[in-house]
Amino acid sequence: MRGGDGSRQAPSPEDGDSLDCEFCRWLANCRGSHPHSPVRVGHDVSLNPTVMLADVFPEELQHLIGENQPLNESLWLGIGGPARFLAEPVEIKQISGLVRAARKHDLAVRVLGHGSNVLVREAGFDGLVISLGGPATCQLAIEGNRLKAGAGAKLTHAAIKTVGEGLGGLEHLVGIPGSVGGAVVGNASAEGRDIGSVVRSIDVLDESGESKTISAEEAGFSHRKSTLDGSIVLSVEFELEPKDVSALTKRMQKLWIHRGQRRPADTSRIVMPFIDPDSMSTRELIASTGLSGLREGDVSLDLSAPQYLIAHENATSEQCLRLIERVREQVLLQTGIDLRLNLQIW
Ligand SMILES: Cc1cc2nc3c(=O)[nH]c(=O)nc-3n(C[C@H](O)[C@H](O)[C@H](O)COP(=O)(O)OP(=O)(O)OC[C@H]3O[C@@H](n4cnc5c(N)ncnc54)[C@H](O)[C@@H]3O)c2cc1C
Repeated sequence: MRGGDGSRQAPSPEDGDSLDCEFCRWLANCRGSHPHSPVRVGHDVSLNPTVMLADVFPEELQHLIGENQPLNESLWLGIGGPARFLAEPVEIKQISGLVRAARKHDLAVRVLGHGSNVLVREAGFDGLVISLGGPATCQLAIEGNRLKAGAGAKLTHAAIKTVGEGLGGLEHLVGIPGSVGGAVVGNASAEGRDIGSVVRSIDVLDESGESKTISAEEAGFSHRKSTLDGSIVLSVEFELEPKDVSALTKRMQKLWIHRGQRRPADTSRIVMPFIDPDSMSTRELIASTGLSGLREGDVSLDLSAPQYLIAHENATSEQCLRLIERVREQVLLQTGIDLRLNLQIW
């Protein structure tokens, strides 16, 4: 699909239902192919008004759910359409009830952590979004060398708490935005070390709403990936290493300051669309191809830290997708490296 200027255009609703363009296939591969993670890229997902809340969810859960709820306020990018249903559970057991009800009615389900790695299309998400930012999933408890963290807890809070107790293993992740659940699902990493390396076990709900505990091996951690896509992470147990508190604190502070300095200073509406390829930095790769500062409508790459995509005022999700595609295409053309998408497209 080419525009008049020869550039590839973002897919439009008219493109039909099959993943028949190269961009769609690339996004789909980046997203993972779990059967319960339907990839809805390139297609209009206008919200289905015929599915009524009361028809799908049992009465005791209905007060937790809003219909046609905006998601943009919960996302770092601050853009995108609403969710057909948005649930904010206050107890863990409600999550499985929500999943079961949605599955029964063939409703797609997504989990929202802290929204630092999600892009929602303008048309919105036609399914159930379960937000895991509430107190039910935010607890942090240390026992011996282990931290048990709720999936909705802030990753940075987990790092600070463990450092304060003289436990090493999470300090290098301080300042990465997002939740523990989001970090574990995407195997977040920094300073050459990923979060999966200190995970001991994970409590998850599978696609049918059944809970189970799986080991780190079963979570299939690899470079910025896990096989958890499609499951809902409820909590994570970390096995950490006793270390000197003041040395850990110094290291954490240094990394935190360094990380803050590398971010665009004048906006918080940013995401990191791509994964660093093995032993390379996306920042250097993009800079070396002359794409720093590249703009598409009201969306641009940062000039000095081009691994960040910035949503300016009036930015749209389609502009983000077009910019991502242009960058990926140019980097591939110039270096032969096919960047993997980090950002999750809903
Ligand atoms: C400024 C900035 C800096 C960043 N720096 C780094 C970095 O250094 N290293 C790095 O690895 N990443 C980095 N990221 C990416 C991002 O912060 C991580 O991917 C983060 O772990 C996402 O967590 P979240 O809670 O915001 O996830 P969300 O954006 O809410 O969700 C991301 C994906 O995870 C899924 N998900 C979230 N929670 C759960 C759960 N409990 N169960 C199942 N699925 C879930 C969502 O469905 C979605 O598919 C950065 C992002 C920004 C904006």
